[in-house]
Amino acid sequence: MKVIDHIEAAKETLFSFEILPPLKGKSIQSIYDGIDPLMEFDPKFINVTYHREEYVYKEREKGLLEKVSIRKRPGTVGICAAIMNKYNVDAVPHLICGGFSREETENALIDLQFLGIDNVLALRGDPIKTESSFTPHPKGHTYAVDLIQQIHEMNKGTYSLDEIKLEPTNFCVGAAGYPEKHFESMNMSTDLGYLKQKVDAGAEYIVTQMFFDNQKYFDFVEACRKHDINVPIIPGLKPIKSLRHISFLPKFFHIDFPDELSSELLKCETNDQVKKLGVEWGIHQSQELKKAGVPCIHYYTMSNSTEVQQIAKEVF
Ligand code: FAD
Repeated sequence: MKVIDHIEAAKETLFSFEILPPLKGKSIQSIYDGIDPLMEFDPKFINVTYHREEYVYKEREKGLLEKVSIRKRPGTVGICAAIMNKYNVDAVPHLICGGFSREETENALIDLQFLGIDNVLALRGDPIKTESSFTPHPKGHTYAVDLIQQIHEMNKGTYSLDEIKLEPTNFCVGAAGYPEKHFESMNMSTDLGYLKQKVDAGAEYIVTQMFFDNQKYFDFVEACRKHDINVPIIPGLKPIKSLRHISFLPKFFHIDFPDELSSELLKCETNDQVKKLGVEWGIHQSQELKKAGVPCIHYYTMSNSTEVQQIAKEVF
């Protein structure tokens, strides 16, 4: 079933979450161990992130260094198929522009369709660590909107390398939105203009970047509506879990902590204290969002479900 149909059929706020494929060499059991404790909250869909290659330097003979490409977390599509098979819950693979030619994207979508996966979250992807800015594949897409356009074309039976019409695919496409603006955007208004393009190209719903101040989400939804972006906007939440997160999350995800939260974080001296605060804050955010009637709350678990489970127990 498509994400948009789950949302339209829902009588109250849905619960969903996102997991990462395990590091290469770990078994799928580590994924199930993260999902099992969350099944009691009846997730209607589970997202699986996509991780592209990274470059590392391996030391060779005579001290020479060789630049080697590795993918540390492969397996997105296989995990989606395994989730659907084991839990009978819809899986949403993330599909990115980075590293893919149009043809590879097309073939990946054909694989998904054969597996009965009809949901995709379409993203550009971040620059890889060795790039200062995002570099598209020479035969690929520069922006998420181009990827969404390609999927939309396939949904109409138009494939990139064939001139004849083929069997249409039937994907429901989601896109990313940023309540605190995407960090590369000149300002919120240009960012929203590009978000509108993604919706016009075929994105049927939006999932937001994590935020810790609900007012930012409410303002974002209002600004989207003013820009004629009328699809459901799913808030994304992440529990803060460690002292390291206090500086890492704002730096990596370009988000702010509200004053009330930052002053409490400053008092924390151990990871356990941060975890406890993270759960309390997550409950407070979730309850307020649920009361406001958001379509779904989407939790970034990073494949560790303990804190999300504690939050969900109080909210769903
Ligand atoms: P885009 O919508 O393409 O936007 C990128 C930037 O370009 C923005 O600044 C935008 O304003 C601008 N822009 C957009 N269109 C145009 C245009 N036509 N002309 C000029 N400028 C334009 N990354 C992963 O690698 N794997 C994942 O699994 C993953 N999952 C994510 C899930 C969610 C819910 C979110 C919010 C992010 C996720 N990311 C993931 C991170 C994401 O790939 C990055 O945030 C990336 O930098 C932007 O992706 P996007 O799809 O929003 O890009």
